[in-house]
Amino acid sequence: MALSELVSPVMNPLEIVHLSKSYPNTPVLRDVSLSVRAGQIMALLGPSGCGKTTTLRLIAGFEFPDSGTVAINGQVVASAAVRIPAEERRVGMVFQEYALFPHLSVADNIAFGLKGSKGEKLGRVMEMLKLVALPDVGERMTYELSGGQQQRIALARALAPQPDILLLDEPFSNLDVALRGQMRVEVRSILKQAGITCVFVTHDQEEALSLADEVAVMLSGRVAQVATPQRLYHHPATPEVAAFVGESNFLPGVAHGETVECILGRLPLDNSAYGSVTILIRPEWLQLNAQNSQAHASIAWREFYGHDQRIGIRLVDGTPLVVRSTAEADYAVGESVGVGIRGTVQVFLDE
Ligand code: ADP
Repeated sequence: MALSELVSPVMNPLEIVHLSKSYPNTPVLRDVSLSVRAGQIMALLGPSGCGKTTTLRLIAGFEFPDSGTVAINGQVVASAAVRIPAEERRVGMVFQEYALFPHLSVADNIAFGLKGSKGEKLGRVMEMLKLVALPDVGERMTYELSGGQQQRIALARALAPQPDILLLDEPFSNLDVALRGQMRVEVRSILKQAGITCVFVTHDQEEALSLADEVAVMLSGRVAQVATPQRLYHHPATPEVAAFVGESNFLPGVAHGETVECILGRLPLDNSAYGSVTILIRPEWLQLNAQNSQAHASIAWREFYGHDQRIGIRLVDGTPLVVRSTAEADYAVGESVGVGIRGTVQVFLDE
């Protein structure tokens, strides 16, 4: 291997640098760079067709990049000069449909990729079954398990050979909505106990925000932002990221340092800025009939959820905004209200 292919010894378990990939007439990935620290869970989040699965397949070794580098635990596995095949990479994979072997017992499924004596394999299988909190199902066939249990066995099988990285492709898409929330908590706890470095693909922002330590938002084959879930939501890098992650109101404005002037009045900024801007206001940053109200609106519609509600308002010039409010607030459609801001707003400089 050329010296230039060796990477610094203190590098992260996964380093992707300037990766590009096209299919005939279809550019799919453009200059994608990502790094995942040891034991961290990274979500690749983006709309359908943005290149998430292709990125996962390049990490796994099912595809090779046109340019750029993939390094796993300090070893380059894909570059202009290196093409290490999938079976020689220490990468575990959990597929959307789990891909468990129906003719094998749960224990044999987990033992499938293991090397060593029968006793060593059995020990590892028992350890994995304990990790996924299903210590007694080893003798069962996989079709005798519920969807959630099958997912845990798929995790156990992928983790058993102690891969350097675990990849999960839309891991919750096969589960019904009620089970998904519960499985997110369980899967995160299993991954953290195992201490494994993970990358998972999802188009579901709630899944990404609740499961991942860091989220990479992909839009049109590029990484638009990598951030913690909190930072991504409160400080999206671009209006496009803001629009994709969470609900957003956008208003035009002019920034004067610590404040921005717009149809809602003069609002405080979280970062100083100057000039023509687009203002991001999350629905829960708006307050109706607050003391700091500088503008007026009328109630256009309400959507009551029980724990809270969304309220559509229309400003005097007709601009529609969405407000998220506590469940107690009681407004009638057509009612006139004052509109204020809780805390600060974020702005994006216009081109
Ligand atoms: P995502 O996982 O974000 O939905 P993919 O990575 O699966 O996106 O696909 C990104 C783009 O690449 C899509 O436009 C898709 O049609 C195209 N694509 C994926 N695989 C192939 C392939 N084998 N041949 C041609 N085009 C492909």
